[in-house]
Amino acid sequence: MSKDCLFCKIAAGEIPAKIVREDDFALAFEDVNPQAPLHVLVIPRRHIATLNELTDDDEALVGHLVSMARDVAHDRGLDGSGYRTVFNCNADGGQTVFHIHLHLIGGRSLAWPPG
Ligand code: AMP
Ligand code: ZN
Repeated sequence: MSKDCLFCKIAAGEIPAKIVREDDFALAFEDVNPQAPLHVLVIPRRHIATLNELTDDDEALVGHLVSMARDVAHDRGLDGSGYRTVFNCNADGGQTVFHIHLHLIGGRSLAWPPG
């Protein structure tokens, strides 16, 4: 756990969140400022600041985050209509919380390309 990291505190249960799925390695919770009817963040329990800090040893963990996003989308009945998953990285990517998180966004038609 990284001191002063918001998402580490959510993972530790020190800051409340609406958790929709969790296991030993990851958790998924509702984004506090949703951009669509479904907006969930999937995070690893272990602190990793940005995608740049990922190593080859983290490949299974990242796959696990994607699988958890898939499961949440399935739970919400969005498999057929579709959804978007995105990792933002650093300033140009729009990252504001420096603990990696996979956005799962859906429940409406999403524009492409993003701004
Ligand atoms: P990003 O800009 O990619 O770093 O995304 C950070 C996301 O975290 C934003 O969508 C925020 O709305 C969301 N967020 C910030 N604080 C919280 C919180 N306490 N609980 C849930 N989501 C949060
Ligand atoms: Zn953290």
